[in-house]
Amino acid sequence: MTSEFVESDFPGWAARLRSGERLALARLLTYAESTRRDHAQLSSDFLEFVGAPDKPALRLGVTGIPGAGKSSLIDVLGSQWVQRGHHVAVLAVDPSSVRSGGSVLGDKVRMVRLAACPNAFIRPVPSGGALGGVTAHLDECARLCELAGYDRIVIETVGVGQSEVDVALLCDALSVVAVPGTGDELQASKRGVTEFADVLVLNKTDQLPESNVQTLVAMYEEGLGLVQGRAASVLACSAVSGRGIGQWLDVLEEKVRSPIVARREKRAALFRRVLEHTLLQRFWANAELARGFDEIATRVSTERLTLRRAVDRVVEAVFLSGAAQGNRA
Ligand code: GDP
Repeated sequence: MTSEFVESDFPGWAARLRSGERLALARLLTYAESTRRDHAQLSSDFLEFVGAPDKPALRLGVTGIPGAGKSSLIDVLGSQWVQRGHHVAVLAVDPSSVRSGGSVLGDKVRMVRLAACPNAFIRPVPSGGALGGVTAHLDECARLCELAGYDRIVIETVGVGQSEVDVALLCDALSVVAVPGTGDELQASKRGVTEFADVLVLNKTDQLPESNVQTLVAMYEEGLGLVQGRAASVLACSAVSGRGIGQWLDVLEEKVRSPIVARREKRAALFRRVLEHTLLQRFWANAELARGFDEIATRVSTERLTLRRAVDRVVEAVFLSGAAQGNRA
């Protein structure tokens, strides 16, 4: 039943994917996530063969520290989307897993309601090891889900520094989940995460007196408004009581109507970021270049070489090594 994933059978795989066959989607995702260059190339070849989906899905990034309630919220939000007739895919970036494929059972248990919905698909995604980094493979995974007919795609990540910016650019909307009154939300603002948030979800408000909730919401609206220079959506929510989920859905539906140009601009910025990141990674992974850097760095620090000349030498070495590799290819 499961034929080989080879170029000559791309039309067959495309048909299976488009028909929403979960097994085919799961199989194709393993190629998109793979650390093997031949698998990754096959995945990109396939996506280029299939082309863009007719109608892009809404991609939602959900980020926040472990324990903030991301999965519980996605469980409620996703189930409501399914009830409204949507097809929901969740790509949960699992920081504990590099290649194992993550704790499939764990994620199913964490999103019990959603996992029981036939129109939902939950997939843990390994957080490292893939070529081009997690952002590039998440993008391909999201594309595959879109092609399989999922029109609401949630990318769940643990908030860690720079990756937030990538997720914000990869998605149409970014929701940051924080638990008010724990200091967690203050940390989030320090890390600059909230700068990119379209929605700040204050979760577990069922644990606070209502007067505190109102004060906190007003406080965050003001703080976030200052950081972002625009009116920010701060929602008092609870995954337990369901509070705020309807409002959250409304804000997200607005995003569905945002012009396609917003997505295009984001993708151009994302390409630039991923390229810069990958170039740096490749630089430090190249033993010869790294050794050359060390030698030059010593001469710079003892002032035998000017800064400008040192930079020139490294840049020249990079382009020469790139050309040499190109010739070999
Ligand atoms: P994640 O690590 O951010 O995905 O957090 P989880 O969704 O796994 O939730 C962590 C814990 O917080 C679990 O024990 C949840 O049951 C609990 N939790 C999540 N949301 C709420 C909420 O709104 N109210 C309360 N009281 N507990 C919650």
